[in-house]
Amino acid sequence: MSSSFFPPQRTLMGPGPSDVSSRVLGALARPTIGHLDPLFVQLMDEVKALLQFAFQTNNALTLPVSAPGSAGMEACFVNLVSPGDKVIVCQNGVFGGRMKENIERCGGTAVLVEDSWGEPVDVSKVEAAFDDHPDAAILAFVHAETSTGVFSDAAALCALAARHGALSIVDAVTSLAGIEVLVDEWGVDAMYSGTQKCLSCVPGLSPVTFSSRAEERIKHRKHKVQSWFLDMQLVMGYWGGDNKRAYHHTAPVNNLYALHEALLIVKEEGLAETQSRHLTNHRALVAGLEAMGLSMAVAANCRLPQLNSVVIPEGVNDAALRAALLNEFDLEIGAGLGGLAGKTWRIGLMGFASNERNVMFCLSAMETVLQRQEAPIKTGKAIQAARLVFDDA
Ligand SMILES: *Cc1c(COP(=O)(O)O)cnc(C)c1O
Repeated sequence: MSSSFFPPQRTLMGPGPSDVSSRVLGALARPTIGHLDPLFVQLMDEVKALLQFAFQTNNALTLPVSAPGSAGMEACFVNLVSPGDKVIVCQNGVFGGRMKENIERCGGTAVLVEDSWGEPVDVSKVEAAFDDHPDAAILAFVHAETSTGVFSDAAALCALAARHGALSIVDAVTSLAGIEVLVDEWGVDAMYSGTQKCLSCVPGLSPVTFSSRAEERIKHRKHKVQSWFLDMQLVMGYWGGDNKRAYHHTAPVNNLYALHEALLIVKEEGLAETQSRHLTNHRALVAGLEAMGLSMAVAANCRLPQLNSVVIPEGVNDAALRAALLNEFDLEIGAGLGGLAGKTWRIGLMGFASNERNVMFCLSAMETVLQRQEAPIKTGKAIQAARLVFDDA
């Protein structure tokens, strides 16, 4: 006999999903109504306006794709890359590699600009790639590399693309609502995000936004978009600005209630306040970890406050530590990904999970488990060091 599933109450401090507030979970549990109900259509318009606020854009083509962040990524590439297009793509972690894969599956040619994992995208290398490939139609890069905990200079990269007459596609899955994202000011042409990172909403939706230049490119495509589901011209029949909403697919109605609530929370707090909260909690966590004798894997000038990569000290059993945190403390932190597996931990401080209690809880839980493993750490220092940061903030 199967029975109902009741998950434990975890503290989610990995690379996503992040903790979802009871306010958002409450919204998710409200009565389902039809996806063409006039009241639901009003909610869609509000979601769109709130997304425009979060992205800091006036782009008309702004909506949540009905699937997780990877679908938002795919939506940007399938709509903008036509067979034969040359696309400069930056890789400094896992997600840049997925962009390359998308380009090739769209029939495009990827020109790869590589930087080491743990380093930001080098703008001068991208400049050189444009000099070598003046016919490049698009520049694609990841703003916040969740695999390493590094942010890149999105403003400079988008300006570079514009100067070379190329469109920009930017992955903001982890950056949106965690660090500054300015779609219009930076001149971003296509950006996608996810609900389960700094928006602290349930997984399963991917906000996207396209500039009017990107919309023009889509309208003048000579080849049909290879994905029927993600073809923006079709999706716009349902999400479009006029009052005629045509059925395309059944919107994930309750997930959109949750996204609406999560975006309201961001708006109520304010973008600047949200960012400064992420920064303070990050500084306190780093102070605590360093007081313990641990070191950060990324240089201070390109660290993401919402994703903290920590070097695993010699002799520490990575899997055993994470299992102890999960089983004894109901605390999830992330493992290293790809080339960083076994070398780093990734501690997320995303959205609702970015708070003082979580910083203190994580520091004391890690200290307890590391001490038991007889790791070379200094005990009794971390909480005090983090406390000083909070008191100064
Ligand atoms: C999480 C993540 C994705 C993928 O999002 P999913 O919701 O897991 O599909 C893409 N890019 C970055 C940078 C991410 O952190």
